[in-house]
Amino acid sequence: MYIGIDDTDSVKGMCTTYLATEIIREFSELDLIGNPRLLRLNPNVPWKTRGNGAVSIRFGKGTGKPKIIGQIDGKDIKCYETGTGAKPTKEHFKRACQLVDKLAYFDDEKTNPGLILTAKKPSQKLYWQAVRQIVEKKPHLKTANPKFHKGWKNGRGLIGSISATAWRPRDYTHELIAYREENKWGKPRKIDTASVQKMDKAITSTFNNYDYEEKHMAIMPSSPCPILFGIRGDAEKDLHKARDMIESEKKARWLIYQTNQGTDDHIISGSVSNLEPFTSVKVLGKVASIPKMIAGGHLIFQLSNGKKAVDCTIYEPAKNFRRIGEQLLPGDIITVQGGVREEPFTINVEKLYIEKLASITEKTANPMCKKCKKRMKSVGKNQGYRCSCGAKAKESQAEFSKIKRELKIGWHEPPVGSRRHLAKPLKRA
Ligand code: ATP
Repeated sequence: MYIGIDDTDSVKGMCTTYLATEIIREFSELDLIGNPRLLRLNPNVPWKTRGNGAVSIRFGKGTGKPKIIGQIDGKDIKCYETGTGAKPTKEHFKRACQLVDKLAYFDDEKTNPGLILTAKKPSQKLYWQAVRQIVEKKPHLKTANPKFHKGWKNGRGLIGSISATAWRPRDYTHELIAYREENKWGKPRKIDTASVQKMDKAITSTFNNYDYEEKHMAIMPSSPCPILFGIRGDAEKDLHKARDMIESEKKARWLIYQTNQGTDDHIISGSVSNLEPFTSVKVLGKVASIPKMIAGGHLIFQLSNGKKAVDCTIYEPAKNFRRIGEQLLPGDIITVQGGVREEPFTINVEKLYIEKLASITEKTANPMCKKCKKRMKSVGKNQGYRCSCGAKAKESQAEFSKIKRELKIGWHEPPVGSRRHLAKPLKRA
């Protein structure tokens, strides 16, 4: 039995993953097959609350040796690698619906929960559509045809619930999420910064823990949700060590999810001539304008493929990543990766690859008069040079030198705190 849930939280509180821990607690008579899964879907959907996350959990009768993947109220949570699936019943559905009714944040107009229970995994194309495009609820529901489903309010959360259960990992990472005691929700979190830095340096299979440039603990959310911290990494077993290294307030529960975070699953190869709003693309082109900083601290430059040009923007929250963008010059060949915005029409740059830097020269001195051994004077713009002795020289006879380019060939990414959940950190490349 696969249970998919989405869109139960609000910026004011709650988190769909917390509801997942409650579902696991509720269905303790069943075994967990595989880790619960936390999926990030299209980061460009305008109606997302924060990170467009959805959850899927598989229950059944496990076979083989289980592993510990969490703890809820002092009780170990285990999962099996393999097993036979349980058949969803009306009773299961009723119990799951009751949890959504109890915990979802219905007051927020953006919160539109969705829940599915199905014995059959939906087609994986539903996942790929939801991570890369804007999709509609009805056709998604029709293709998946889950045994039980419920949408609250406009029921948009069904899109995420279905898509999360449809995932077959091509690439994956894990995230260990630790939750706070309920009486602390909404209050400032207590996590020791030095312990996060120490863990970050010691457990090298983890990523996006601490932003040294911005002095920001990226593992700690800033919203009033139940999460204390989330540690992301490539090696599940290392996350246990990482968790124990963090000195913090008490963890009421924790759980390790398998996720598509840091995989670049959202990216499609595109062309500057053919960009679709609300998708995330990777496009090759030539820088076609000098980058310009506009009000708000956003940096804009044009990228052209010879036929068409598009604005690319490195937004202010990308912080020092803008310093890379500022050094681009017309003629540089780069690959830009990012979300296509509709209004203003631009690529929101989330990573860039410098393929080739243009060789650009600048005038360093006027021509020297061979006879007088003095520098000539400019006659006027593009009109050449003349010496007081009467000797003349062309514009091209001035002295030029190559501009020294500091940019490094290869990938460049924003600092840890400004990365998208789905963006593959260079550390993982
Ligand atoms: P998080 O759990 O990280 O806070 P979120 O709160 O930002 O995630 P949701 O509250 O889940 O995001 O809201 C996103 C909504 O968009 C959900 O209803 C989801 O079903 C829907 N959705 C997800 N992907 C797509 C897509 N590709 N096209 C249309 N709707 C989508």
